[in-house]
Amino acid sequence: MTRLLIIGPPGSGKGTQAGHLARHFRIPAVSTGDIFRSNVNQHTELGNQAARYLDGGRFVPDHLTNALVMDRLLHEDVRRGFLLDGYPRTAQQVRELDRMLAAQAQALDAVIELQAPDAELEERMHRRAQEQGRTDDTIDVFRRRLDLYHRQTHEVVSVYAGRGILVSVNGSGDPDGITALAIAAVEKFLAAPRHPS
Ligand code: ADP
Repeated sequence: MTRLLIIGPPGSGKGTQAGHLARHFRIPAVSTGDIFRSNVNQHTELGNQAARYLDGGRFVPDHLTNALVMDRLLHEDVRRGFLLDGYPRTAQQVRELDRMLAAQAQALDAVIELQAPDAELEERMHRRAQEQGRTDDTIDVFRRRLDLYHRQTHEVVSVYAGRGILVSVNGSGDPDGITALAIAAVEKFLAAPRHPS
């Protein structure tokens, strides 16, 4: 049973690595970004409410995001573990996730932080914009997402560092190499004796 989080700036390859890690650890990946995008494409009520935030590169309001994750974490398939991708992104979401997990007597085992320099992120975003055509991959919107990451999500990383469960991985370079690095780092961390902080 493994409960993981992956955090990384836009363009860090977080979604790709989340998929590989989830397969390796045999747990479902739960990506708030993917769930929002599929709701937007299907024009659901949630999608209609979330669309303008996604397109503008802003955070979807906490009450919508928290409700979405709470609902998802009650599904049968995540009882034996999960990899959360894209949540929590704010200090308020951290508190909310703490509450959700405590209510089910669960806790996170490790938080993976994927690191990459801003210049490299921007370059990758340009490439991805051409390949995937995501509506939030324009230069202005990307910069806003990156700025939000530095201003808000960085604090989330610090919280988990303070709890002694942060595993930082260098996200520069070839994707397969990064996957191997991330798996090795998480396995090493999970195997080490834990000193509760
Ligand atoms: P990236 O990290 O590359 O920006 P994601 O797929 O994780 O991409 O997220 C895309 C968008 O979905 C975000 O810019 C935001 O609008 C919305 N979103 C995803 N997760 C959250 C969250 N936890 N809180 C608020 N908004 C979110």
